[in-house]
Amino acid sequence: MKGPTRVNHPPKVDVPSDNRPLVAPIYQSVKFTFDSVAESEKLNRGEREGYVYSRVSNPTLRQLELTLATLQGREDCLVTASGVAAVNLALLALCKQGDHVVVFAEMYQPTRYMVRRLLARFGVEHTMLSIEDTDAIEATLASKPTQAVIFESPSNPLLKVADITRIAAAARAHGALTVLDNTFAGLHNHGELDIDLYVHSLTKFAAGHGDVMGGAIIGSKKLLASLQRDLVVLGATLDPNTAFLIQRGLKTYFVRIERQARSALAIARYLEQHEKVERVYYPGLKSHPQHALAARQMKDSGAVVTFELASRVDPARFADSLRLFAISASLGSTESLVQPGQLMMPRDLNEQERKWAGITDRTIRLSIGLEDEADLLEDLEQALAASDS
Ligand SMILES: *Cc1c(COP(=O)(O)O)cnc(C)c1O
Repeated sequence: MKGPTRVNHPPKVDVPSDNRPLVAPIYQSVKFTFDSVAESEKLNRGEREGYVYSRVSNPTLRQLELTLATLQGREDCLVTASGVAAVNLALLALCKQGDHVVVFAEMYQPTRYMVRRLLARFGVEHTMLSIEDTDAIEATLASKPTQAVIFESPSNPLLKVADITRIAAAARAHGALTVLDNTFAGLHNHGELDIDLYVHSLTKFAAGHGDVMGGAIIGSKKLLASLQRDLVVLGATLDPNTAFLIQRGLKTYFVRIERQARSALAIARYLEQHEKVERVYYPGLKSHPQHALAARQMKDSGAVVTFELASRVDPARFADSLRLFAISASLGSTESLVQPGQLMMPRDLNEQERKWAGITDRTIRLSIGLEDEADLLEDLEQALAASDS
């Protein structure tokens, strides 16, 4: 074999079947081959297991999908290149012209955009409500045939808690599918509730290190199988190398979540008693309007703490004065992050919807990282002291 042939047909290294790598390798290959046409045909006919092309499936992606499905307590999963891809693919695969969906003012902005602008172009109608108004959700589902309800809990950034049991029951009763964007609550929450599809941004707490993007759609085998063809053709495939990094990030998921939620609760309690803080939104605080619902529905209250500064504090100066919290969009990094209201204003909402979203120019969202809790409290203390307007 000459060099140009050899480099394209390198020696095969077979690992004995009783000698496995402890960490699964990255299958960084787009194509998979059989030794015969007959076996390839069997795969095409669904008569055997196997892989052909990584947009359809890849062993590294499959391992991540099965891990995520187990964590969320469902049978199957499809990973995507980003969280928005998961949300959008789920909606595209579920909806057709003439369908009606229920969506909420408090949702992630690109999800609102998808429903309001893109799906509307294809003749999908929607009703936009507040996630707090469970009565209105029930009334809408009772009065208008609905294909899907897509919602989040806790909401971003004010951490309103949806009454998932009531919403899911109303959807079930009226034949609508539920799609829960579970990014904020996490893979370890809400699995026992009657939800049809979970969507996640793995970019946040699942991968956990702020260095890769990914998304997931999780549900029953049957429902995912019915969507699979559409999803594959839409092509928002995750790269195997990224899937490997997300799988690695997940190994510390529970340790990170527990630690970050513990620090978040301490920080929420500290902020609540501070004279320069008007109000704290954190489901783990007794003062949260849905504290009892959150305690019933979630195992912990998460790593995001949002609050309103008192009027004599300058929000930009406060954020600028923090040394350990980076001014940054997004959440779920090992570094703590801060985002002031002026950078989170929902420009696509009307006056009523903006009221529901509830973000003001005094709102501050914190995403708590893995730094020492006392150091974080000290940083908040010095920034509050330094930021009178
Ligand atoms: C970040 C986020 C998304 C989108 O995820 P990406 O990975 O950034 O595409 C969707 N929903 C929620 C609730 C998010 O926080």
